[in-house]
Amino acid sequence: MGSEKELPVALLQSLEGVPGFHRQAFEAIHRSGEQVTSVRINPAKAAEAARGIESFKTTLPFSSAIPWTQQGYYLTERPFFTFDPLLHAGAYYVQEASSMFVEQAMRQTLDLSVKLRVLDGCAAPGGKSTHLQSLISAESLLVSNEVIKTRASILEENLVKWGGMNVMVTNNDPADFSKLENFFDVMVIDAPCSGSGLFRREPEAIGEWSPHSVQLCSQRQQRILADYYPALADGGTLIYSTCSYSKEEDEQILDWLLQNFELDSLPLQLQKEWGIVEVQSPERRGYGYRFFPDQVKGEGFFLAAFRKKDGGDFHYRPSKKPKLQKASKAETAAVMPWLKPGADVSIWKQQEQLLAFPALLEQELLVVADHLYIRHAGVTIGKLAGQQLVPDHALALSTLLKTSTVAVSLKKEDALQYLRKEQVILQDAPTGWALVKYENLPLGWVKVLPNRVNNYYPSNWRILKSGSN
Ligand code: SAM
Repeated sequence: MGSEKELPVALLQSLEGVPGFHRQAFEAIHRSGEQVTSVRINPAKAAEAARGIESFKTTLPFSSAIPWTQQGYYLTERPFFTFDPLLHAGAYYVQEASSMFVEQAMRQTLDLSVKLRVLDGCAAPGGKSTHLQSLISAESLLVSNEVIKTRASILEENLVKWGGMNVMVTNNDPADFSKLENFFDVMVIDAPCSGSGLFRREPEAIGEWSPHSVQLCSQRQQRILADYYPALADGGTLIYSTCSYSKEEDEQILDWLLQNFELDSLPLQLQKEWGIVEVQSPERRGYGYRFFPDQVKGEGFFLAAFRKKDGGDFHYRPSKKPKLQKASKAETAAVMPWLKPGADVSIWKQQEQLLAFPALLEQELLVVADHLYIRHAGVTIGKLAGQQLVPDHALALSTLLKTSTVAVSLKKEDALQYLRKEQVILQDAPTGWALVKYENLPLGWVKVLPNRVNNYYPSNWRILKSGSN
């Protein structure tokens, strides 16, 4: 069924003359009501799933690979994702296909095999962050910042499910990052925007659009970029993106960046069949990449990449009073048997919680902790009660957890029962902590007692809907 809402005339008029904008085809695709559904798989979890990516195909109707990413797939239809335990295991992320083009910008402008410090500056709910984490090396760091507190919690949930260790979730204003001058090698700014690129998928958003909101978004984008800019190192890559078609938020921002900062615009290689349109900004000829849904199998999107040409070295002055403390030898010894043997981690203590962070990133952890509010770092391991660890949910979902941890495998119906935080019945499980698995991927913890099983799934993450498909 087609969309009832008409596209704003002021938007259509403002796009006349934009390369790649064909009004008739653009209006027709919005009226068609056609929906494109896509997911990006988590390579770390696919590797651990019972039958690799085949496990995913039992619940996801894959159609074809998205050509500009090695990790994304179109689906033939939109399943009811909530009732797929694999989603809750962090096996994949439901994400719009065009926005996965960030992978091309990363691969074409950076050597991803080396150690990089990466900032995702507008990170919630975590589509780009989970993708970036799958692209960077294990020795690299991802700082995912979200300024709005309520949105930072969903960001944290999605990154915990993704299961990687080399990440911090911060909840700061972009201006706070000026204290980390020249710290980052890569900065991804997927800016808040007027959102016209999503009108096909969310026609109800059409009513909120106005030329005035485009102006306000453009000014806010400039403020965000100016606030974050000092934290990018000399030679670092800046990736800017929006889901708006408006020149004020796209080409004009490129001109503004090139006029006000020492940046080189970076062209990206495209394949013709992708249908992506290369544009250049009117004043400074900065390269941008436009996605129109009548030409691309995806929603409206815009992306541009730059290389910074100024700034000095980052100087780290350790604070006399570090905000984080290393765990004691005894605490570390209690935790290590839960982790994969040989994992190169340091164990830290934040209040009563123990957390694991890559040993190679110790300096980075201390620097960020000195200057920003860290909401989450690495993998939360749990708390000690006496000598015994009470494992945290994040440990269950982490790829750091020892593979031979006691586990019970559930079929789909029982896994959903577990995810609703209801009673689960397990046959022959030994008493103590056990992982609940589906297709060999952990969903969370249970504690098996002689006469019952306690379900430790986090209450605020549980499935509230009834049904199973
Ligand atoms: N990158 C995310 C993803 O791929 O899932 C989507 C980001 S969304 C387009 C923009 C984000 O910027 C929102 O989470 C919003 O809360 C945040 N934001 C809003 N105002 C902001 C500001 N003034 N400074 C920084 N971020 C802001």
